[in-house]
Amino acid sequence: MAITCRRFVQFGFLLLVIFIGLKFCLFVASFEAGVIPDFERPPGVEAFLPISALVSLKYFIFTGVINNIHPSALVLFLIICFTALISKKGFCSWVCPFGLLSEYLGKLHFRLFKNRLGIPKWIDYLLRTLKYFLLGFFLYTIFLKMPVKSIEQFIYSPYNRFSDVKMLELFTGMSMTTVVALLVLLALSVFIRTFWCRYLCPYGALLGIVGLLSMGTIKRDSKHCTDCGRCEKKCPGQIEIRQKDEIHSPECSACLSCVDNCPEENAIGFSLFSGKVKVSPQVLAVVLIVIFIVGVSMAKISGHWRNDITKQDYLGRLAQPVRLPGNINADIDPEKLMRMMQLIKAQRATLNKPPEEKQ
Ligand code: SF4
Ligand code: SF4
Repeated sequence: MAITCRRFVQFGFLLLVIFIGLKFCLFVASFEAGVIPDFERPPGVEAFLPISALVSLKYFIFTGVINNIHPSALVLFLIICFTALISKKGFCSWVCPFGLLSEYLGKLHFRLFKNRLGIPKWIDYLLRTLKYFLLGFFLYTIFLKMPVKSIEQFIYSPYNRFSDVKMLELFTGMSMTTVVALLVLLALSVFIRTFWCRYLCPYGALLGIVGLLSMGTIKRDSKHCTDCGRCEKKCPGQIEIRQKDEIHSPECSACLSCVDNCPEENAIGFSLFSGKVKVSPQVLAVVLIVIFIVGVSMAKISGHWRNDITKQDYLGRLAQPVRLPGNINADIDPEKLMRMMQLIKAQRATLNKPPEEKQ
């Protein structure tokens, strides 16, 4: 039951991510063809800009300003961190599409190897530190090494302004190195369950740390538990559940597989405040969805959802240069050419203005 409920939420978010991704692809493709689209860029695409979100967070902490370049990156980052205060790494197993992919690759692992390819515990511990090193590197670089002035320059730099486009180009124009790296990661995730999430994802590392303060935890009742071990067998976090009454591990993603696979009633469950308030999978699903809806609505109402980058700016970044053919009588629509030249002129004028004048 818990897994069905979670799948429903996971696929719902996956559809949303696909919709946002396709809309952004159309948005970019339209500019590349020299046409200004009559629809807006989906701000949700900024969920894929975690570096920009961290930079924006520091800028917000030190200046109190939510920048207008990638405001939704910061909003989504804060929403995701907030979910960790309720459901630990619940974002990973209920919302994140990479978490979903990782789970299905894990299923393939079970089919192929019946989980026989376990790795020694000491190697597992060693590898698990990698994601914390990656997170530490980003936090150190952004929060300790970069002064606020540099943060501001980065936020308004052409690189950061169009980092959403750059991120898309990473996928649409994949180099051989990127393809090989992705294939290696996929293969490793089949051989070693949840390889990316468990060992490399810095976002997961951050949520694991924030989740240590979580109000919600998995609680085992030793009075009802028969010590059968079925929960541990299914736990993707490889947590030794039977040795604890309450799971405080940073690897717990509130996936509820342990709850779903427990044959005893009331032996294990998800609850708030150390078992005081029991939470069913359905309620947890609703809570997570509501957190996203409320967070995004608040950002929209307060004007911190859409960025201030104009369509002319995007045109200047994305429009292909017009190449006049040797034969001047070739098929050029003079009206379209004139319109494009006017737009590029307007865009150049906007780019030359300091950020505050554009607001
Ligand atoms: S303890 Fe339970 S909820 Fe936490 S990761 Fe393991 S199976 Fe999932
Ligand atoms: S599956 Fe249930 S009964 Fe079995 S060890 Fe886990 S909590 Fe105890």
